[in-house]
Amino acid sequence: MIEQFRQSTEALPDAAVVLGKHDEIEWTNKASRQVLGLKQTDKGQRLPNLLRFPDFIRYLKSANYSEPIIVPSPVNHQMTLEVRIIPYGSGLRLLLAQDVTQMQKMQTIRKDFIANVSHELRTPLTVLKGYLETLQDMDDGQSPLLTTSFKEMQGQTERMQHLVDDLLLLTRLETQQKKHDCVDMPQLLSQICKDGSHLDNQSSRIHLALNTEARLFGEEQDLRSAFTNLLANALKYSADDTPVQVSWYETANELILSVQDQGEGIATTDIPRITERFYRVETKRRRKIPGTGLGLAIVKHALMRHDAHLDIRSELGKGSCFSCHFPIRRKC
Ligand code: ADP
Repeated sequence: MIEQFRQSTEALPDAAVVLGKHDEIEWTNKASRQVLGLKQTDKGQRLPNLLRFPDFIRYLKSANYSEPIIVPSPVNHQMTLEVRIIPYGSGLRLLLAQDVTQMQKMQTIRKDFIANVSHELRTPLTVLKGYLETLQDMDDGQSPLLTTSFKEMQGQTERMQHLVDDLLLLTRLETQQKKHDCVDMPQLLSQICKDGSHLDNQSSRIHLALNTEARLFGEEQDLRSAFTNLLANALKYSADDTPVQVSWYETANELILSVQDQGEGIATTDIPRITERFYRVETKRRRKIPGTGLGLAIVKHALMRHDAHLDIRSELGKGSCFSCHFPIRRKC
């Protein structure tokens, strides 16, 4: 049985390495020798001495293996590997590395395509918008059909501009290098709530509770986009006479920003899907609410860049609470 098991793991297309308590190599399969460049004589050696990528070493040390990590292959820099570590037994770990070069290439093509299309759409849209404004100025109101057509065209070009802007923002979040700094969260949140209250006279609806003075190590522009989207949604998807509570607080392990509304809520089946690009919950009332379906995808990506996650709690007819959880090590 053991021999059969060894033979089958030896034949696996993915690299497999068994690691001991001190990161020493206990066993390797054939693919690990091909894609990770390990040799049979490396048995007993510590893996971080052989795979020297800083990200990988940090990952191995972190002992948090819930997500895989992407690293280049040490034998072929054109090859990209997705590495997972699975702890088992007493202190043992199984490392699996899969060649994801093709998938990464497809992702890059998709990102480039969206970036290029959105960028190319910008200029014609600006031109159209400009002409439309001129035509509207020239409209003498003699033809109601013309006036409503102009209004409709203006609404649609604005919608398209929001889409293009959101797509460009998403691309930036996916591709741009992080430039993190110490962000004054109380000030940023006060500003966002102030801007939000100027919008459609919503001032009496927004309540801000700053329960901590904590600042956050991150990128202000990304955080601003994320929190603005959450606040805008809370205002959009709840009645005009209900409050929206924004809170910034701290627990032993986390810094949390929550946005709570008393709006229409989201069905349990929709919750896992609303952060997908272009996913919008279709109800008669909501169809009339303008939006691109990209807001929460932006929130998710902005949070990922800050090692944070989004927690969504909602009950139909009662309201929703969107909270962003940042690890406490980001406090500055
Ligand atoms: P958009 O608001 O532009 O449609 P989002 O990505 O921001 O796009 O949100 C996706 C969907 O999630 C929305 O269409 C809406 O159905 C739902 N949603 C988001 N926030 C809330 C909220 N606070 N209350 C109820 N539904 C919400």
